[in-house]
Amino acid sequence: MSSKKQQPAFQGKECFSRMNFLFQASMLMAGKNNALSAYYGELCRSIAKKAVLKIDPNIKRQMCKRCSLALKPGITADLHAETRRKRRKSLKNSDNVDENTSMTLTCHQCGFRRQFIVNPNYNFWLDNEESVVESITLGNNKPESKQKQSLISDKETKETTTK
Ligand SMILES: [Zn+2]
Repeated sequence: MSSKKQQPAFQGKECFSRMNFLFQASMLMAGKNNALSAYYGELCRSIAKKAVLKIDPNIKRQMCKRCSLALKPGITADLHAETRRKRRKSLKNSDNVDENTSMTLTCHQCGFRRQFIVNPNYNFWLDNEESVVESITLGNNKPESKQKQSLISDKETKETTTK
């Protein structure tokens, strides 16, 4: 599979560019104008939905699931760590973090709470090297930002899952 220079490097490139821009704008506006931030986040997600493109989990976790506000712990969201055994006690030492620890991210705007289980042994499938089938290098007109690349890397893995 080799991409020709004149054709677009991959499907949905325009959409990814737009989503990348909107996500960055949403992150910038978080804490300054939360309504605008949520609006940009919502637009970003609706583009992905319409063009059937997947957003990288790392990016997706930075947006509220309900109102699409860009979540920045301490600015637009609260972050708590708690154990399952002693639920009401918040953790004081990082030594206590184990597989029973969970992380709760609460959105300031809509109050939506999202819980993540902290497990240092857990790996994303997408972080696995086996999941990457092909990496695409874009033209050298503009330097690509990190967010863009992570969005693309998800796209690559989506296209073909087996070698
Ligand atoms: Zn929210």
